Order: sequence, then structure tokens, then C-alpha cells
Amino acid sequence: MTVIIDGKKVAEDIRRQVREEAARLKESQSIVPGLAVVLVGEDPASQAYVRMKGKGCEEVGIRSLQHRLGAQTTQGELLSLIGELNRNGEVHGILVQLPLPAHIDEKSVINAIDPAKDVDGFHPVNVGKMVIGEEDGMLPCTPLGCQELIARYASPLGGKHLVIVGRSNIVGKPLANMMVQKQPRANCVVTVCHTAAADIGYFTRQADILVVAAGRPGTVSASMVKEGAVIIDVGSNRVPHPDDPSRSRFVGDVDFEGVSRVATAITPVPGGVGPMTIAMLLKNTMKACGLQTAVSR
Ligand code: NAP
Repeated sequence: MTVIIDGKKVAEDIRRQVREEAARLKESQSIVPGLAVVLVGEDPASQAYVRMKGKGCEEVGIRSLQHRLGAQTTQGELLSLIGELNRNGEVHGILVQLPLPAHIDEKSVINAIDPAKDVDGFHPVNVGKMVIGEEDGMLPCTPLGCQELIARYASPLGGKHLVIVGRSNIVGKPLANMMVQKQPRANCVVTVCHTAAADIGYFTRQADILVVAAGRPGTVSASMVKEGAVIIDVGSNRVPHPDDPSRSRFVGDVDFEGVSRVATAITPVPGGVGPMTIAMLLKNTMKACGLQTAVSR
């Protein structure tokens, strides 16, 4: 029987751990972790993400500070806010919701965030720490969520062949770097595929664990998967609803019906990787708070 990986349940487990840790920190040292989320402009999807992040914080005892700036905000104004948040001792994590309006250079903004408060794990200092396997850096949330699911559903991991479809800076590349480390919850043999591969099936059929982050529905079908593989589908694609084209629904990058007949475990979309991302953001905020307050004690 194929296991349908319940990302909501695992995410709730992580949130419970964060809630308990936040309560302990408050009781023992009167410290409340704080996450500042900065939104520039009125993109509805970004507004919804920011609301979800705020709600997620409240539920676990993290103070949420939301900064909603108009679409005309200049890069200088945004950098100045980030400077203030870097200096604010009550803020342990800073997240700037991406994408930013076209007149703002994302790289300059990411680089301005104090790496110790970079809960998205996108700052070059944290990317460097990730590559060399230092444990006091901040790792990006979606790959962290994938790693958590892989560790729970595909262990033992040592020597397993992990194939990743997609090499973006937010999913594929960081996950490859995390999973190749000689560390517990990693130690995999890793292959990364992208659009230059003539036949991705040649690689995906060799995977003990297959992570698909291509952003295209139907990228992986049953004939591209080895019997018994564990499948993590990161894709989140809005497509017309088959019963009513005026509505839409989300599907992953993997043919769920077909592949679930071959795999031992598979994430659904929605309800797989998606809920893990915010849970890992909360966990990262807790980690950042712990590291910062340990230094200042
Ligand atoms: P992205 O920046 O567009 O990168 C997609 C990657 O997949 C690229 O490296 C691309 O190769 C590769 N690719 C695309 N089609 C391919 C194919 N047919 N064969 C082989 N490689 C292919 O996307 P992303 O930001 O990583 O996101 C990927 C998906 O995950 C999207 O659906 C996104 O919505 C979803 N996502 C979900 C979450 C979550 O929390 N659930 C978080 C982040 C992303 P090239 O480099 O050669 O172009």
C-alpha cells in the first residue's frame, strides 16, 4: 500500500515543537521570538502568504511584526527599514516577501538583511554555510520541509540515490547541497536534473528518492519512476478545474494517480510540501532567536 505523506500532520507536529519551545523560552528567560515580515506592493498572492505567516506566528507564540509598504516604496526606503529591523533587539527574524516590484533589486535587499536574522536562508553568508555544512546558518524553508519529509519517510538515508528535478536557488540547489552533507538526515548520493537533460527519465528511474520542483504539471509520469521510490512533489501549479473551467485548483509536477501505483510513499498537492514551508519558517525563527539570545546572554 502506497503511503500518502500527510504534510499537514507533519507540519502540525513541527508547530507543536516550536510552540513548546517558545513557551519554555518565555517562561525561563522572558524572551518572545519576533518575526518581521515586510511586504511591498499589493500582489494578492503575496498578501495571502504574509497573512498566513502572521497567523502561523500567533499560533505558536512568536510575535509577528508586519510592515506593509506601498508599491511606490523606493529601494532606499526599504533598505532603511531593513537597517532598523537589523538593529531591533525584539526582531529575531526578517523576511522580505518576494517577488519585489521591478524597480527594487532583490539581491541588494537580501544582502542587506543581517545573516543571523535571515530566516529565509537566502543571504550569501547562509548559502555559504549551507554548502560547507556549518550548522549555525539559516537554511531555506522549502528544502528544509522536503528534508524533514524525506527523513521521516525514506530513512535510513545513507547512500540512497536522491534525484532532484529543478535547480532553482530556492528549492533544487539548496536541497542538493543539504542532502549531500555527511550528516544525519542527509548523506545521500545526489543527482540534479534540469532542462538541459535530454532525457530526465534516465535519471529519475534511478532514484530511491525523487524530488520534483520543476513548476510544470506532468513533468514526471509513472514510467519515469522506479518501483518503491519515495516521491516528494514540490510543484504548486494553478490549473483550470476539470469539472468547472471557471474555477481553478492546484496540482503538483507529478502525475499523482499513475506514480502513486509505483511509489512506496508520495506527497499529495495540496497537503504535502506546502504546509511544511511555513512550519519551517517558524522553526527557523525559533533557531535564529535561540542563537541571538544565547550570544547576548
Ligand atoms: P523555477 O525557479 O521555475 O525552477 C524550475 C526548475 O525546474 C528549473 O531549474 C528548470 O530548469 C527545471 N525544469 C523545469 N521543467 C523541467 C523539465 N521538464 N525537465 C527538467 N527540468 C525542468 O521554480 P521553483 O521556484 O524552484 O519552483 C518549482 C515549483 O515548486 C513551482 O511549482 C513552485 O510553485 C513550487 N514551489 C512550492 C513551494 C511550496 O512551499 N510548496 C515553494 C517553492 C516553490 P532550468 O534551470 O534548466 O530552467
